[in-house]
Amino acid sequence: MQFRTRAIHVGNPRDPATGAVVAPLHLASTFVQPGAGEWGEFDYSRSGNPTRKALETTLALLESGVGSLAFSSGMAAIHCVTMLIRPGDRIVAGADIYGGTYRLLHKLVRPGAVDVALAPSTDLAGLEKAIDARTRLIWIESPGNPLLSITDIAACAELAHRHGALLGVDSTFATPVLTRPLELGADIVMHSATKYLGGHSDLLGGVLVVGNRDLYDRLYFIQNATGAVMGPLESFLCSRGVKTLELRVREQCRSAAMLAERLASDSRVRRVYYPGLPDHPGHEIASRQMEGAFGAMLSFEVEGDFAAAKKVAESTRLFQLAVSLGAVESLIEQPASMSHASYDRADRLTHGISDGMIRLSVGLEAAEDLWDDLDRALHHGR
Ligand SMILES: *Cc1c(COP(=O)(O)O)cnc(C)c1O
Repeated sequence: MQFRTRAIHVGNPRDPATGAVVAPLHLASTFVQPGAGEWGEFDYSRSGNPTRKALETTLALLESGVGSLAFSSGMAAIHCVTMLIRPGDRIVAGADIYGGTYRLLHKLVRPGAVDVALAPSTDLAGLEKAIDARTRLIWIESPGNPLLSITDIAACAELAHRHGALLGVDSTFATPVLTRPLELGADIVMHSATKYLGGHSDLLGGVLVVGNRDLYDRLYFIQNATGAVMGPLESFLCSRGVKTLELRVREQCRSAAMLAERLASDSRVRRVYYPGLPDHPGHEIASRQMEGAFGAMLSFEVEGDFAAAKKVAESTRLFQLAVSLGAVESLIEQPASMSHASYDRADRLTHGISDGMIRLSVGLEAAEDLWDDLDRALHHGR
């Protein structure tokens, strides 16, 4: 079965009691057991819930994993992974990562005595230099955020395993439609389900998909012990979102590619970051690693500084000024003042996240309408 067929049919059992074609939403917090000390499949909803299970089953299959765990948010999912790492050990993370991951690693995990190093994951030699004998986890994003940098996942998996570390990939921007990191050798794939998987800006959630049973069991233990599970309603909504994931992503990618090309040839724009453009430094790897399209996120720098970018970001009408991404509604934001404000400014600038940068999440509106909107905003921004 092909991806979109599996997205609709796997993990979505019809209800045997009623024949309903959509699996029911199980809000129950607890489940009756066959006897004292005898356990049925479900006992208590933190440990397992049928609606959450349905989503986890679908996602494990779509990402080619042995199992998946759904969390209350993407950050809860990443936090669960960091709890595999012991004090004194090291996490090496890509430099171009989600602002919240930077905050978790630098302001919470590191003060908790786990060593954290940022390294450019696009440069394998640089990445390897940051790895030491105590490195247990390498954490990357591809495409990165907000520079849309492309990391060679297969090469990173080889590097991580050669040094006895796990490779975790935040694949929120790529979605399993375009890239399946476990097939490329990664150990853990993470998604902010808040973004493309849900796809409609109406739920908060996170997902881990795991490539082997032992690791899955360790992560499940942490999830159950800490309790940041995805709620039944969010699981239901996310399962609904996943059914149209491929259609949405493919169409959104088409619009993003068109906008990237027009922005790249516009004199009001200094630089465009989109892996689909032939002059993007990651274009060649992306062509191999991403299936048939380059994603629906793009960033660009306007001529001018912080104030000029702010003006443009505040001038669009269809692109709404908001963080988050991946939904049917197009969004615009300024990383320096919004999504990446939690970076120390020096780290932000060192890693090329400039004040004049604008990030777009291209939604499902008609592409020509989106272009007209940007064109007008760039005009105002002058
Ligand atoms: C949003 C996001 C996260 C965090 O997910 P939440 O659901 O907001 O907790 C992590 N990584 C990336 C790439 C994201 O876009």
